[in-house]
Amino acid sequence: MSKEIESILQRYGADRTRLIDMLWDVQWQRGYLPEPALLELAAGLNLSLLDVRETASFYHFFHLEPAGQHRIYLCDSVLARFNGYQAVREALERETGQRFGRLTDAQALFGLFETPCIGLSDQEPAMMIDKVVFTRLTPGKIADIIEQLKQGRSAEQIANPAGLATDQLAYVETLVESNVRTQRPMFFRGKLNLPDMLEQMLEQSPQQVIDTVVASKLRGRGGAGFSTGLKWRLCRDAQGEDKTIICNADEGEPGTFKDRVLLTRSPKQVFFGMVAAAYSIGASDGIIYLRAEYHYLKDYLEAQLRNMRERGLLGRRIGGKDGFDFDIRIQMGAGAYICGDESALIESCEGKRGTPRLKPPYPVQQGYLGRPTSVNNVETFAAVSHILSEGADWFRSLGTAESTGTRLLSVAGDCSKPGIYEVEWGTSVNQVLRMAGAHGAMAVQVSGPSGECISVAKDSERQLAYEDLSCNGAFTVYNGSRDLLHIVREHMKFFVDESCGICVPCRAGNVDLLHKVDRVIAGRACQQDLDEVVQWGAVVRKTSRCGLGATSPKPILTTLDRFPEIYQVKLVKPSGPLLPSFDLEAALEGYAEASQALKEKLETRS
Ligand code: SF4
Repeated sequence: MSKEIESILQRYGADRTRLIDMLWDVQWQRGYLPEPALLELAAGLNLSLLDVRETASFYHFFHLEPAGQHRIYLCDSVLARFNGYQAVREALERETGQRFGRLTDAQALFGLFETPCIGLSDQEPAMMIDKVVFTRLTPGKIADIIEQLKQGRSAEQIANPAGLATDQLAYVETLVESNVRTQRPMFFRGKLNLPDMLEQMLEQSPQQVIDTVVASKLRGRGGAGFSTGLKWRLCRDAQGEDKTIICNADEGEPGTFKDRVLLTRSPKQVFFGMVAAAYSIGASDGIIYLRAEYHYLKDYLEAQLRNMRERGLLGRRIGGKDGFDFDIRIQMGAGAYICGDESALIESCEGKRGTPRLKPPYPVQQGYLGRPTSVNNVETFAAVSHILSEGADWFRSLGTAESTGTRLLSVAGDCSKPGIYEVEWGTSVNQVLRMAGAHGAMAVQVSGPSGECISVAKDSERQLAYEDLSCNGAFTVYNGSRDLLHIVREHMKFFVDESCGICVPCRAGNVDLLHKVDRVIAGRACQQDLDEVVQWGAVVRKTSRCGLGATSPKPILTTLDRFPEIYQVKLVKPSGPLLPSFDLEAALEGYAEASQALKEKLETRS
């Protein structure tokens, strides 16, 4: 066995659950995942090569073939396309001499890849090179970056010319703007006194802490909106000695970037929320699952965790309390939207493909390694810290009856002030549009592609609240110049690409729905196609295993509902015996030539 692989295995205690970390380490060293290295890893973990390949082949950022010494991932989201993506893409190909998506030899300096939203919608076009990100790209910037890479500078040196320590906030904010536009009423107001809060929390019983969270009526901020306190109570009551707390920092919904900013500006509030969850539930293990696109945050977050350990806020005997041992490790993702699903995320934390599990059992019953596990979102944990600081009554005084507290919004698209806005639940769409300087808005994609595309003309007085318009944090504005049908197409393609493929309705149904959109765009659809879209969409939503399939038809269904005219105007009207969708000219294309060729052949023979 090579020394490299031996030391990687040692680093992770030859623990199979750390396979994704090991694959990352191999890829950082070799530039991709060569088969001999995978064989050695498999041997060291007592797995087959197929087991290791099964995991490695699932994630977008792992390469089983040579992928260049510098791997460049250009975000090809809808918002990137609004902001000069094409010119940047062409500049990358021109300057590197490579083509996107083409396999390259092991010696090649660059590999070019497209990737969905990398959490930088407020500063597109953006790209990742190796572990760092570059924002607000132009062809000129691309030429400069590529030239420096050719001269032997690393991506990190180029992104950080002042040589700041990578575990400092200044480094993180040199790479990426936080764009925090509001500093009230809860987040970003300043630091919380965590040692005092810990002391007060430990004076209460775990049940009392859960009662406070229940009384606050906090609902999970990841999208589903389940009661956080109830989830903790179920996890506490579940059978099993070892319990786990997981923070889902895999915000992959296109248009969402609020967790990125919370982790930048208030990481300890997030981690303290995890400590509170651990105390309440009786957990000793914590994992923060950080999306690979946020690799540039890793050193900084590790430093924050170290600091909490030094201050007795993490580790053994937290707050001096016997038996309260809890620590947090960072698990890097490797590029898979589906890992935002809590059971897929748990599979990924165990070093496997991110395939959603069948439920029940639910993660609170049997989650990570079969243990009762509570998975909560970054914003949920940060909100818990504020609830413990200010009290459940204060939290409940914000928002509406069913949607208490505030909501962080990632506002992007056609507005003059994109960034992070904290609003109380119950705020109207119009208020947000005004705050963000969105003039001439036609539509808003609320909660990303898996949410709703609403019409500003019809829905601007609707309230962001579970009682009306639920919102997972993404608020993407489109003005009247945008082609909504092409946006719908991009979103459907996203779901086709991101489906894990384990169940047929999602794997095949989304492809069929995408074809329907193509047919509409090509002007070859009829009313029957739209009727089928509604029927098939309902089937996909109802019969798919996880949230991806349950929401994937929504780009079409919600635009059909709010903007039926953009479909109707493209429909062909039946005018003869043929189906309108049947393209006679396309079907006969090449017929005349083939017929002539056959005739000539027959004549030659005779
Ligand atoms: Fe996978 Fe789609 Fe089924 Fe979810 S719905 S489990 S993503 S195939």
